[in-house]
Amino acid sequence: MAKQIQAIRGMNDCLPEQTPVWQMLETTLRRVVSSYGYSEIRMPIVEMTNLFQRAIGEVTDVVEKEMYTFNDRNGDSLTLRPEGTAGCVRACIEHGLVYNQERRLWYVGPMFRHERPQKGRYRQFHQFGVEVFGLNGPDIDAELIMLTARLWRELGIEQFTTLQLNTLGSSAERAAYRDALVVFLEQHKESLDEESKRRMYSNPLRVLDTKSPQVQEILQHAPTLTDYFGEETKAHFNGLKALLDAAGIAYQVNERLVRGLDYYNYTVFEWVTESLGAQGTICGGGRYDGLVEQLGGQATPAVGFAMGLERLTLMLETLEKINNLPATVDVYICMAGEGALTAGLLLAEQLRSERPQLRIMTHCGGGNFKKQMKRADKVAARIALILGETEVAEQKVTVKFLRDQVEQQTIAVTALLPILDQLGE
Ligand code: ATP
Ligand code: MG
Repeated sequence: MAKQIQAIRGMNDCLPEQTPVWQMLETTLRRVVSSYGYSEIRMPIVEMTNLFQRAIGEVTDVVEKEMYTFNDRNGDSLTLRPEGTAGCVRACIEHGLVYNQERRLWYVGPMFRHERPQKGRYRQFHQFGVEVFGLNGPDIDAELIMLTARLWRELGIEQFTTLQLNTLGSSAERAAYRDALVVFLEQHKESLDEESKRRMYSNPLRVLDTKSPQVQEILQHAPTLTDYFGEETKAHFNGLKALLDAAGIAYQVNERLVRGLDYYNYTVFEWVTESLGAQGTICGGGRYDGLVEQLGGQATPAVGFAMGLERLTLMLETLEKINNLPATVDVYICMAGEGALTAGLLLAEQLRSERPQLRIMTHCGGGNFKKQMKRADKVAARIALILGETEVAEQKVTVKFLRDQVEQQTIAVTALLPILDQLGE
């Protein structure tokens, strides 16, 4: 036998048994965002590398070590998108979508990061994201959080999620804080790990995002950004908290929450869960008022979030929220004997025209009725329609209920629709 070729590590197939939970999740996502009046945008999966360097920031985990970057045949450096915001902003500027206009957009699709694969962390993963342009908040920030909260409710996972909230203030406030943080870090330089030492000057706020427990311990005593906030930042954050209180959405203010990408200011938030172990963040977002201008557009306030669909499907599976997924087939058509094949295939076509919502599968490949009924069982059909020589000659069909205690019956083909209609009930 020839040597098998396997999928790339960290890049998963989504097998037929798994697609129903994905479809359910995607359908719910689409329904919820469209109930807020948001529009879909689709961007390419590959962009110029410098887009991500500029948008996400050179000194971030994503740009430093996680990007899939390669040279195109003509020598351009391209990158498989590690997230959706940069491409979305690029597209909006390029097509003039946000020039003096408000936009509320969403996207869904694969993202790529070269990370160590583990449960809930993959090299190709999927994000659903929302980006809103032209609004300063905090009203729109609150709406985005309400939208995510509604989604958890609709998915039945709201008791398993908590909202962490913080504000990063304006860029001027961050600059003042940054200086103070560097002074503090310099005093503790000896106890920092290599990564933190390196980031201390290039991007000190990033040190706050460290995963090292030892550095986290030291950071307990670091100055906090809060001390540098002016009235505007406080009013923005209080406004958001008041709206969330009014909406009955609980949150924990977490002053250590800085998010992994550089472009955020003012509001940042993460939804976390304990149901997934280490990879507990299912959704993260915040304001990025400087990014449109930074990428060459006119200064435009913006806010968005992205959620990881693998983590959500894992959660739905772990919490067994997918029991009620419909079977794959409603009607299985079995046929054997003179004229039955033609009659069966045509009957299936006719029924699909008359009842497009029904899933009708025909038995192909011949064999006796016993074998055909086994197939019907295997695909979890609700009823089997049996066409033998007698049925074909008399224009009848035998209806066998596979999952209800109802007697099998042979009826005229014309009497079939009322029976099929009961399947939908
Ligand atoms: P983490 O801290 O878990 O690495 P992050 O801050 O890098 O997350 P974001 O860039 O904010 O993640 O992406 C938003 C969401 O996308 C995350 O909250 C998570 O649900 C999901 N996500 C990010 N990276 C991965 C990955 N490698 N595999 C699966 N899902 C991911
Ligand atoms: Mg990450």
